[in-house]
Amino acid sequence: MKAKHFPISTSVLDLIEKTTPTHYHVYDEAGIVENTRRLAKAFSWNPGFRNYFAVKATPNPSILAILKAEGSGADCSSMAELVLAERVGLRGLDIMFTSNDTPDVEFRKACELGAIVNFDDITHIAAVERACGALPPVVCCRFNPGKVKAGNTIIGRPEEAKYGFTREQMLDGYRLLKAKGVTRFGMHTMVASNELNPDYFVETARILFELAAEIRATVGIDFEFINLGGGIGIPYRPEQEPVDLERVGAGVRRECERILLAAGMPMPRIVMECGRMITGPAGWLVSRVLHIKRTYKTYAGLDACMANLMRPALYGAYHHISVVGKENAPCDTLYDVTGSLCEKNDKFAIDRMLPRLEPGDRVVIHDTGAHGHAMGFNYNGKLRSPEWLIRADGVPQLIRRGETLDDLFATLDCGIATR
Ligand SMILES: *Cc1c(COP(=O)(O)O)cnc(C)c1O
Repeated sequence: MKAKHFPISTSVLDLIEKTTPTHYHVYDEAGIVENTRRLAKAFSWNPGFRNYFAVKATPNPSILAILKAEGSGADCSSMAELVLAERVGLRGLDIMFTSNDTPDVEFRKACELGAIVNFDDITHIAAVERACGALPPVVCCRFNPGKVKAGNTIIGRPEEAKYGFTREQMLDGYRLLKAKGVTRFGMHTMVASNELNPDYFVETARILFELAAEIRATVGIDFEFINLGGGIGIPYRPEQEPVDLERVGAGVRRECERILLAAGMPMPRIVMECGRMITGPAGWLVSRVLHIKRTYKTYAGLDACMANLMRPALYGAYHHISVVGKENAPCDTLYDVTGSLCEKNDKFAIDRMLPRLEPGDRVVIHDTGAHGHAMGFNYNGKLRSPEWLIRADGVPQLIRRGETLDDLFATLDCGIATR
């Protein structure tokens, strides 16, 4: 079993903790850049390949600025995410607006920024036209493949998912868009999350390419880009392997040549909306042990809680835990690693073998760079952690201060003050 790597030295942690004691999230710029480049390299055969980073994964402008410098776009699903993309200077076709159940103001904001609008439903075509006064120049429809043929274990149960158009609606949707004068099209699907099987993404591409060929033949439009969505998984467990991106890229290329180029279609740009694989493995939640409690089980209580990282409590997700300075100590003690919420689910790990812990030990929770801080909340009046970025030159930079009680109470007195 490979040890999980934590690239930040104790002296850098000490430096960070002079300003902000635990808990905090910390990200590694070099790792984020490397992950972005690995993905781009796997698709270097495709002119115009681009990842639209899913902003929801790590909605911090300092992170978005790194990704922008690497050529990534932004995949946004809400007003706040559109505004963040705008603030870092992303505009127009740099932004993919993949929303669902969308209020008019958000469609208007997306149109104002000139974003690619990725329709989640056929009725949203009229909704956008009404909200924005016209349709955006480049649009995309989100496909939900529904019940796929029996025996296909790769794609789960998309028919239970709220997202996207049915197959018939895809044909009707593009017909309608063409009739309304739109000339520039993409196609999208996203039907899995945290998927580690590379062949899954090749299968997704095949489904989209076949549909694109059919729509081209029957509706008479060309596709500028095919958006395979996000969902590339990461090895949260030490025994797991990262997705073989070369295999994904090569497989998508093969299907593209076999289905699209063979039918005389021009090569579309392949685009993705990966969040997790870009920032997930390059982020950690650093916390300290407050108490060791021995009752029917042994509990290591941390100064962070599920308000700072919800995935274990929400989905039973595994996050690896290591203890700074005890990397080589035997994992000979069984713990539940808990937070302080009045909520029995508030555990980072259940029945985890760890080195023997003491109050004050610095504990690192791995792979928290995506959907970590972002899913934070304020139950029990818990404050969101600060976020630090280790720049490529090794210098730590505070990229979001921690919340204060004043932040927490800031929305409370407005009604009282105006009365
Ligand atoms: C969440 C989401 C993504 C990003 O998924 P990751 O697992 O972070 O890669 C991309 N596109 C859409 C539409 C999403 O909802």
